[in-house]
Formats: sequence, C-alpha cells, structure tokens
Amino acid sequence: MNINDVARRRCEKLLLLAARTLDSDETLAKRYVSLARRIAARHRLPLGNKAFCKECGLPWIPGKTVRVRLGRKRAGSGKTVLYTCVCKNTRRFPYSKKTKENKQIKH
Ligand SMILES: [Zn+2]
Repeated sequence: MNINDVARRRCEKLLLLAARTLDSDETLAKRYVSLARRIAARHRLPLGNKAFCKECGLPWIPGKTVRVRLGRKRAGSGKTVLYTCVCKNTRRFPYSKKTKENKQIKH
C-alpha cells in the first residue's frame, strides 16, 4: 500500500464522517470536508465533484444539502443534471447512465 492509497482512504473516511456529522454539527462537517480537500490537494487525488460544495464546503447529500434536478436538454449537449446547494451555488454535470460520478471518490 503506497502513500496515495493511505491518503485516498483518509479522504474517503473524512467525507463519510462529514456526511454523518452534518446533522449534529455542521461546522465540524465542513471541517472534515476541508481536511479531505487539503489531503487530496497535497496528494493530487481527484475527489468527486458531487461529494461537497466547492463554495461553502458543505457535504452534499441529495435532498438535504443539495437539490438535484435534471436540466433542460440542449441541442448537442445531451442531458445535464443540476446540483443546487443550500448556499445557492449551482453546478451542472453531464448526465449519462455510465457515469461513475455517484461515487464520492473516483479511482
Ligand atoms: Zn454550498
């Protein structure tokens, strides 16, 4: 097991903790997210785009902290999914059934 595996596991654990802590302590949840982001940046690990809000650092839990909507179809661009955070930050993702984006951390 190399150092990147250790770092990735730590990120996964921190994001999981962040999601679990959200109900009881939002500040702590955000802190877990920022720790995960820091580790990921140091080790150049790709964190999932949908695990947390890049604006406010809140862990994204569909139906709770983030609203997920299918976007309008536009010519040539295919379907999109719209993620709207409670802080009003909005992100658009391409939508396809093959996507692995549901995982918090891509491998
Ligand atoms: Zn946000």
